[in-house]
Amino acid sequence: MGTIIDGKMTSKIIKDELKGQVVSLKEQGVEPTLAVVLVGGDPASQVYVKHKKKACEYVGIRSLAYELSAETTEEELLELIATLNSKKDVHGILVQLPLPKHINEEKVLLAIDPAKDVDGFHPVSVGNLSIGREGFVSCTPAGIIELLKRYEIPIEGQNCVIIGRSNIVGKPVSMLLLRESGTVTICHSRTKDLPGVCKQADILVVAIGRPNFVTKDFVKEGATVIDVGVNRLESGKLCGDVAYEECAEIAGAITPVPGGVGPMTIAMLMKNCVQSASRCL
Ligand code: NAP
Repeated sequence: MGTIIDGKMTSKIIKDELKGQVVSLKEQGVEPTLAVVLVGGDPASQVYVKHKKKACEYVGIRSLAYELSAETTEEELLELIATLNSKKDVHGILVQLPLPKHINEEKVLLAIDPAKDVDGFHPVSVGNLSIGREGFVSCTPAGIIELLKRYEIPIEGQNCVIIGRSNIVGKPVSMLLLRESGTVTICHSRTKDLPGVCKQADILVVAIGRPNFVTKDFVKEGATVIDVGVNRLESGKLCGDVAYEECAEIAGAITPVPGGVGPMTIAMLMKNCVQSASRCL
C-alpha cells in the first residue's frame, strides 16, 4: 500500500499558515477581502460557495457574498463586476460557475480585473502561466503541485501524464508540471493506447469525470497517482476517476476522493486572496 496523500490535512496546514499572514496584513492596515458572486440557486454551487465562505472565516479573510436571483441579467452582473473591480478594498472576485444559460460565461470572466482574478480563469492569468510570468494560477492545478511538493514527490525530470485537457484542470496542471521541469504528456479521449501511455508515468494526474475509470492496468509500480475526479454514484457516495483500492496497492502515493485534491482547491483560493491583498501593502 502506497502513501495516502492527505489533502484535508495539508489544506488545514496551509490555511493555518495563511491565518498568520492575514493577521500581519491586518496589522498593516489591509484586510484581505474576497467577493463571492453566485447567480441562481444551483444546489451544488450553493454548497461550494458555503465552503468558500467558511474557509474565509477560518483564515480571517473578509468575504462579501452577492447572492443574485436566477433572473439577473448579464448587464446587471457585468455592472456588479465593474463595481467590484473599482473597489480598492476588494482583493479577489470569484464568480461561481456555472452561470444561468442566458449569461455568457466567457464575457463575465473576461470582465474580472486580472489583478483580482483569484480563480485564475481570466485569459491574462492563463497566458501568464503559459509564458512563465507572475499571475494567479487556477486553484485546483495549484493545489496539485502544492500536494506534490509538500509530500516531497520530485517532479523535475519525471514522466508526468495527465488525462484530461480541460481549461480548468488538464491544461493548467500540464503547464505547471512543465514549469517544474516534468516531462509532460497530455492525454484525452482520442489518445491511442491510453493504459500504455499512463503506465509510463511517474506522476499520473487523472481529470476526466468518469467514476473508477483508471484501473491498476494504467499504473506503474511506485507511481504517484493524483485523482482530480469528483463523481457522485447513484448510492450518493462520492468517488474519483481512479479505482482507488486496486491502484493504491501498486502506487507509491495516491490521493483519495474525497479528502485529496478537493480540499486543496479552497486552500489555494485562500492563498490567492492573501497574495492579492499583500500586493496592496
Ligand atoms: P471536462 O472539462 O469534462 O474534461 C474532461 C477531460 O477528460 C476531457 O479533456 C476529455 O477528453 C477527457 N476524457 C473524457 N473521457 C475520456 C476517456 N474515455 N479517455 C481519455 N480522456 C477522456 O472535465 P474537468 O472540468 O477537467 O473535470 C474533470 C473531473 O475533475 C470532474 O470529475 C470534475 O468534477 C473534477 N474536478 C474536481 C475539482 C476539485 O476541486 N477536486 C476541480 C475541478 C474539476 P476530450 O477533450 O477529448 O473530450
